[in-house]
Amino acid sequence: MSLRELVDVDARIVSVENLRGKVYKTAMIAPEIAQRAKPMQFVNIALGNSTDPLLRRPFSLSGIHPGSGIIEITFAVVGRGTQIMAGWQPGQQAKVLGPLGNGLDLGGLCLDHGLILVAGGTGLAPLLPVASVALEAQVDLKVFYGARSADDLLDTGELGAGCQFYLATDDGSAGTKGLVTDVFESYLSGLGTGDTGRPTVIACGPKPMLRQIKRICKRYGLPLVVSLEERMACGYGVCQGCVVPSAGMKHGYYRVCTDGPVFWADDIDLGECTT
Ligand SMILES: Cc1cc2nc3c(=O)[nH]c(=O)nc-3n(C[C@H](O)[C@H](O)[C@H](O)COP(=O)(O)OP(=O)(O)OC[C@H]3O[C@@H](n4cnc5c(N)ncnc54)[C@H](O)[C@@H]3O)c2cc1C
Repeated sequence: MSLRELVDVDARIVSVENLRGKVYKTAMIAPEIAQRAKPMQFVNIALGNSTDPLLRRPFSLSGIHPGSGIIEITFAVVGRGTQIMAGWQPGQQAKVLGPLGNGLDLGGLCLDHGLILVAGGTGLAPLLPVASVALEAQVDLKVFYGARSADDLLDTGELGAGCQFYLATDDGSAGTKGLVTDVFESYLSGLGTGDTGRPTVIACGPKPMLRQIKRICKRYGLPLVVSLEERMACGYGVCQGCVVPSAGMKHGYYRVCTDGPVFWADDIDLGECTT
C-alpha cells in the first residue's frame, strides 16, 4: 500500500446484521476501496463526528466486491467503538480509510501442495477473501477454525463445500471440544508417511494461538504466513503504535500497519509458547 493509493471515503452503510452473540457483519458501499483492495488488507473507521471515541478502529475486510462496490466487515463487540458500530443503521455514513496494509497475493505463495487456513475467533474475517480466491483457483483448501463457543463463530457458510472444514470450540458447543491448535496438530500427526507435500499455512487469531501454530508448523516443516492484529491508531505508519520485533531483532521493529499485517512467521518474533 502506498499513501497515494489510500482513500478516505464516506461509506454508506447498507446493512448491519447480528450473526450471533456479539458477532456482527456490516456491508457498506465504498467502491474506491472495493476496487483497490486485496485479501487481508484492512480499513480504519471513524466512529462518529465527535471526538469520542477519538481514534479510528481498524478492521479487516471480510468481503471485497469490486463489481457492486461493497466491502464487508465482520466484527465482535468488545468495547465502545464496536458497540457504536453494532448500532449503525442502513443509510448512515461512516468515514472509512483504506485499503491499508500490504494484503496478500496468493500468486506469490507455493500452493502446489495446497493451502491450510487456521483462524481463531474474528481472525477468520481476513481469511474469508483468501478462501474465495483459493477456491476460485481450485487450490486444495483446508480450514481449521476455533472460537470460545458457538456464540462467537463468524459465518462460515461462504466457505462453501469446496474445502475441508474443521471446527473447534473451547466449550464444545460446536465442533470438536478443545483448541483449534490441537485439532490442527492432530490432523498433521495423522498424515501418513506418503503425504510428503508441504502445504502453505496462513493463520490469523490471538497471539497465543499464533505462537502455537508457529511451533507446530516448525515441527512439521510447513511454511507459515501470519496476519497480526496489534492495536494501532493511524493505520498508515506514522504513530508507530503497532510495532512488533523482527526475529532476533535483525531488522529492528516492523510496523504491523505498513510492513504487515501479513508476515512470514519466521521474520517476526511472536514470543515464546508458555504451554
Ligand atoms: C489490522 C487489524 C484488523 C482487525 N480486524 C478485525 C476484524 O476483522 N474483526 C474484529 O472484530 N476485530 C478486528 N480487529 C480488532 C479491532 O480493531 C478491535 O476489536 C477494535 O478496535 C476494538 O474497538 P472498541 O472501541 O470496541 O474496543 P476498545 O474499547 O478499544 O477495547 C476493548 C477491549 O478490546 C481489546 N482490543 C482492542 N483492540 C484490540 C486488538 N487489536 N487486539 C486485541 N485486543 C484488542 C482492548 O484491549 C480491550 O480489552 C482488528 C485489528 C487490527 C489491528
